[in-house]
Amino acid sequence: MADHHTRVLIIGSGPAGYTAGIYAARAGLDPLLVAGMQAGGQMTTTTDVENYPGFADVIQGPWLMQQMEAQAKHVGTRMLQDTIVSIDLKHRPFVAVGDTGDRYSGDVVIIATGAQARWLGLPTEEKFKGFGVSGCATCDGFFYKQREVAVIGGGNTAVEDALYLTGFASKVTLIHRRDSLRAENILQQRLFAHPKVEVVWDSALEEVLGTTSPPGVSGIRVRNLKTGAPRDISVHGVFVAIGHDPATQLFRGQLDIDPSGYIVTKPGSTKTSVPGVFAAGDVQDPVFRQAVTAAGTGCMAALEAQHFLAAHADATAGKAAAE
Ligand code: NDP
Repeated sequence: MADHHTRVLIIGSGPAGYTAGIYAARAGLDPLLVAGMQAGGQMTTTTDVENYPGFADVIQGPWLMQQMEAQAKHVGTRMLQDTIVSIDLKHRPFVAVGDTGDRYSGDVVIIATGAQARWLGLPTEEKFKGFGVSGCATCDGFFYKQREVAVIGGGNTAVEDALYLTGFASKVTLIHRRDSLRAENILQQRLFAHPKVEVVWDSALEEVLGTTSPPGVSGIRVRNLKTGAPRDISVHGVFVAIGHDPATQLFRGQLDIDPSGYIVTKPGSTKTSVPGVFAAGDVQDPVFRQAVTAAGTGCMAALEAQHFLAAHADATAGKAAAE
């Protein structure tokens, strides 16, 4: 068990955490980044990445994260692997404890713990992940030009994904387990008016159908939850959009968190409800959830942390001079 102190404690090792590390290190703040079990975050479970700027050729998600990690280390970010199990945000320096028993205190904290996409938990969903089953329409929609796809879910994400996919697919079938959508009215109106969209109500996805070699999706089997009737629908892509779980359990009761579990930040900023605590990436972003936006907010968090520390140092110096 050891005690570690740092000016900037970064929790989380996705694009947001690494970018915060790069900026904080280059600002001379000697940041310490604590990476959890899945270092690299959601990007390590992605394959082809075509939408991260700066790479003309397709790159791999895990490779991109290795590069970000190496870059953060090269400029001076200290990194440790531990899972933070508790944190006290009531007093500065803020103190976090890892499951190794190590204690980490930071003059400021940048939370970049990310979010996990929710999945249905079907064996065939798992089997075809990356081969026709996706959790990100923005990332993978491009691969379904003139093909038929299905979207599962009835919230804002599902409806936005379905509308986005109409830009590529020849037909988009939205499968929802109830007879009304949770999504905002304006989105619903756009969805219902779209000629490429069919909504299948009261239905649950039961099975993804496809071939093993080469692996690929050829359809889905859904069941009407009211009548019990099964229905097979021919599709090449299945987008599961049933929500995300932001990793905010540690911060409940200490920071403002919205009803969906996302940390609330001030508009245009990464400031949370506690001064000196900043949140970046998917943990505070229910809308965009992209690696590049996560990296952008990681940069913002580091710059805001730097300003906070500078202002705080001035205040401390002023107080000392007055005494
Ligand atoms: P939501 O939790 O809002 O919606 C999840 C949807 O998936 C619901 O329709 C739910 O059904 C369905 N669902 C959940 N579990 C299952 C399951 N096991 N089987 C089948 N269906 C399931 O998640 P979103 O990602 O859509 O949105 C999260 C938050 O982010 C919301 O606050 C949303 O408003 C916000 N958001 C805002 C955007 C914007 O402002 N542009 C864009 C995207 C998201 P049911 O309705 O029956 O519960």
